Amino acid sequence: MSEYDYLVIGGGSGGVATARRAAEYGARVLLIEGGRLGGTCVNVGCVPKKVMWYAGGIAQTLADAPGYGFTVGQTSFDWATLKHSRDAYIDRLNGIYANMLEKAGVSLVRGFARFVDGRTVEVNGQHYSAEHIVIATGGRPSVPEIPGAVLGITSDGFFTLDHLPARVAVVGGGYIAVELAGVLNALGSKVTMLVRGEQLLRPFDAMVREELMTQMKDDGVNILTSTQARSVKRTQSGALRVECDQLDLEVDTLIWAIGREANTDRLDLANAGITAEAGGVIVTDPFQNTSTSGIYAIGDITGRAELTPVAIAAGRKLAARLFKGEADARLDYDNIPTVTFSHPPIGTIGLTEDEARKQHKTVSVYTTRFTGMYNAMTEHKPKTAMKLVCAGAEERVVGCHIIGEGADEMLQGFAVAIKMGATKADFDSTVAIHPTSAEELVTMR
Ligand SMILES: Cc1cc2nc3c(=O)[nH]c(=O)nc-3n(C[C@H](O)[C@H](O)[C@H](O)COP(=O)(O)OP(=O)(O)OC[C@H]3O[C@@H](n4cnc5c(N)ncnc54)[C@H](O)[C@@H]3O)c2cc1C
Repeated sequence: MSEYDYLVIGGGSGGVATARRAAEYGARVLLIEGGRLGGTCVNVGCVPKKVMWYAGGIAQTLADAPGYGFTVGQTSFDWATLKHSRDAYIDRLNGIYANMLEKAGVSLVRGFARFVDGRTVEVNGQHYSAEHIVIATGGRPSVPEIPGAVLGITSDGFFTLDHLPARVAVVGGGYIAVELAGVLNALGSKVTMLVRGEQLLRPFDAMVREELMTQMKDDGVNILTSTQARSVKRTQSGALRVECDQLDLEVDTLIWAIGREANTDRLDLANAGITAEAGGVIVTDPFQNTSTSGIYAIGDITGRAELTPVAIAAGRKLAARLFKGEADARLDYDNIPTVTFSHPPIGTIGLTEDEARKQHKTVSVYTTRFTGMYNAMTEHKPKTAMKLVCAGAEERVVGCHIIGEGADEMLQGFAVAIKMGATKADFDSTVAIHPTSAEELVTMR
């Protein structure tokens, strides 16, 4: 008999969540982590990113203050001070994760795991076996294969920067690219985005995409679309020369934010009879089963809805199915709300208008665009825009898309209603909260 019931490979969002739940249900659990506990989200993702987003917001508030009658004296911003506090916060979180695992009775081994066979993994020369093994090894940022690409950094490197770069190129148009570009711009860098396609945030609703592009440009971000970096060189002055199709760009820091690839390469998956797809993704069925019985995968490694709460929820459901006897437990991947911490933030759930028109015969759409009350007093006048996408004669709300101040906190409650199948009439029969921006969502006609 093996010492453990459940081996969890990877101590990020999904791994820690499934390990703790399984232990709570009485399983003997071993968690294996090769890097820092908490994974991407805690160390180089959601958490440090949100701290930086708040810093960008404070810079904007200082700029807005005169509109409210404040005289703001000479202000300065010290990146190193913020980085020091942010790193200390993350160190505390790493410790909290270790304590939580210990309290839950989860054993922890530090090192990178690889499969020996379908029931056994090896870590630092030691073998561990269990009836159930879950792969929760997440992903890492991609770097293109072009000359000089190593001179750039990725989102991981962004979090190790020890000063605010004066001139930055951010390559990519996805949510990580717009978030990093937004933060750097708000804090005072001169930011150029190099976007391969025509749009930012390609999978998002067109209204949100266009509004974000307009607002980022208004805020001073130089967005070059249909542009690809071809090579990078270091100049004599120490700057970086980024050679693109139609132009060359000189910057101090280049950030690759062109996508992520799965962490499968160290796992020796073939020994467990599993084949990874393109980009290292491990395909699972709706119950997180891989093609090998007794081996499961959760979180970013599965290439679906790469978000922390998704990894956590899938991990908890899996633990309930394996160790609590809930045979049908599985995560419902429909209607997952998500927020992009751009400046201003975006909240979105469900179908875009285009998707809804492809899937439903009858689609009705409600939109609004306005300047929020906070900005009535300020020189900076970003717009808030909202869209409700409804389907069928009963007008079930199948999509909700918001860009503007407060969108990040607004969406969660509306997501509950939409997940429950709320109709436009349900929205209309809810009394508004005044004066807020959110009230527009229940008063649109
Ligand atoms: C810049 C950035 C911002 C983000 N912002 C948000 C956000 O605001 N909201 C949100 O929901 N999501 C956000 N995400 C996504 C979120 O971080 C991920 O979806 C989430 O961390 C996935 O969790 P996971 O458990 O699948 O993997 P991870 O958290 O990546 O954890 C995987 C762990 O496995 C370890 N590992 C890898 N290989 C092995 C091995 N062979 N043996 C042992 N250990 C191994 C790694 O060291 C890592 O600790 C962001 C991501 C990035 C990069």
